[in-house]
Amino acid sequence: MQVIDIPGLDAEVEECIPAALQRQGSVLAHPVFSMYHSETEMMRYMRWLARRDIALDRAMIPLGSCTMKLNAATALAALSYREFNSMHPFAPLEQAQGYQQLFEELEDMLCDLTGFHAFSLQPNAGSQGEYTGLLVIRKYHETRGEGRRDVCLIPASAHGTNPASAVMAGLKVVVIDCDACGNVDLADLRAKAAQHARNLAALMITYPSTHGVFEEGIREVCAIVHEHGGQVYLDGANMNALVGICRPAEIGADVMHVNLHKTFSIPHGGGGPGMGPIGVQLHLAPYLPDHPCVDGVNPAASPAGTIGTVAAAPWGSASILTIAWAYIFMMGAHGLRRATQVAILNANYVARRLAPHFPVLYTGRNSMVAHECIIDLRPLKEATGVSVEDVAKRLIDYGFHAPTVSFPVAGTLMIEPTESENKRELDRFCTALINIRREIAAIESGAAPASNNLLKNAPHTHRLLLQEEWNLPYGKREAFYPMPGIRDDKYWPPVGRIDNVHGDKQLFCGCVPMEEYGQVAEQ
Ligand SMILES: *Cc1c(COP(=O)(O)O)cnc(C)c1O
Repeated sequence: MQVIDIPGLDAEVEECIPAALQRQGSVLAHPVFSMYHSETEMMRYMRWLARRDIALDRAMIPLGSCTMKLNAATALAALSYREFNSMHPFAPLEQAQGYQQLFEELEDMLCDLTGFHAFSLQPNAGSQGEYTGLLVIRKYHETRGEGRRDVCLIPASAHGTNPASAVMAGLKVVVIDCDACGNVDLADLRAKAAQHARNLAALMITYPSTHGVFEEGIREVCAIVHEHGGQVYLDGANMNALVGICRPAEIGADVMHVNLHKTFSIPHGGGGPGMGPIGVQLHLAPYLPDHPCVDGVNPAASPAGTIGTVAAAPWGSASILTIAWAYIFMMGAHGLRRATQVAILNANYVARRLAPHFPVLYTGRNSMVAHECIIDLRPLKEATGVSVEDVAKRLIDYGFHAPTVSFPVAGTLMIEPTESENKRELDRFCTALINIRREIAAIESGAAPASNNLLKNAPHTHRLLLQEEWNLPYGKREAFYPMPGIRDDKYWPPVGRIDNVHGDKQLFCGCVPMEEYGQVAEQ
């Protein structure tokens, strides 16, 4: 019997990677990369990972500003087609006509939904869209002989990426105050726009605002900036409250990004790829990104030059555009509007149910919110020492992912239910929060100790349950099964409370000994 000699065969085959290009250093050295060799093992490993996570397949993820909506399987299907996922970003265009059609149709649909004249599909994230849009604005000023314009006005409520993008684009940030209702303080805006009129480049504004309200002065805000020669950058992260109802370009914005991974259903979280295309008015289209190696990326490119590229690939993470395309196409005009209406309805339902228990920080006219709401925990912190973090961790015991913590206002929770959740799930979530409010009331009344209670010790892990001794001043049932609905399908947090600040200051990796990392680093 002849034995197949694999190393021998291997030696006979000529090496096809040139020696100079072969990697010498060690790579993927962590044992996890060589532990799972069969599909069975891999399947179990992935299931093990998934079980440790609170994802959308378990409960709603009410992360305000993140729009954690359903990523429908049908919209994801095309991504698994070889024709989409095996195309090289620099394949000759005549071999990639399907992609060209996809881009054109998606750009058209986005223009239609937003009212903008043209879209660039190059930016790979909302934050990259911000950077791109601001570069486009700078280029526009430059070509008009106003290159001196380098001041960017940003309201105090803005997402952290706004000032970061502005600084990266070489702009100076001037902060605009917000009034007691959470709106941009128009008097402060007028004063600062006038003060910086000569050098005003842009204003960045989020609509509806990060405070979860439709800012009624938005048109006036845009007009003030235009009066002083500035351009309006609209942060479109909250587009889920607008689609099919209003077109941001008609409000007065000059450029805007859309987070396709929020509003248009591309899965995100855990660092998955996003897409943050920008839409612009006619006068800015000539400066949108193009590409030195690929023609036609910006068909309107100015002879005087565009801003160049902001990503290596001409159309960014093009393959995931299939998801947004499918989402828009399948929802249709009617479905998209309906989704927006239900998203707003759900947020208002949650706000109304929670209002008797937690103050809702900002509401617009008629006491309504937009597609998300902020509940204020600062008074409770004052009274009981219970922090937003304690509530966020306690929600894990109830099987829920926390809402957004301390953004845009420290000490608050921002809840965005999205249109994907039904009333039963919204009620489950509200009931959990209302229950937690009762647990806080016990601390308020002195019935539960201030430093050793259900909230301060959350989340409660199975290790705690297995300890022989139980010295906590409350029962196991309250700790682990605080709500009847979770008896049959309890989520067990894999770790208990960690000390965030300590962790941020002491970087370490618990998986492979540090010395091994030291060796890799030295190579
Ligand atoms: C998510 C978000 C951003 C940043 O978008 P990324 O795609 O995460 O880069 C900017 N502004 C607001 C208000 C957001 O919610």
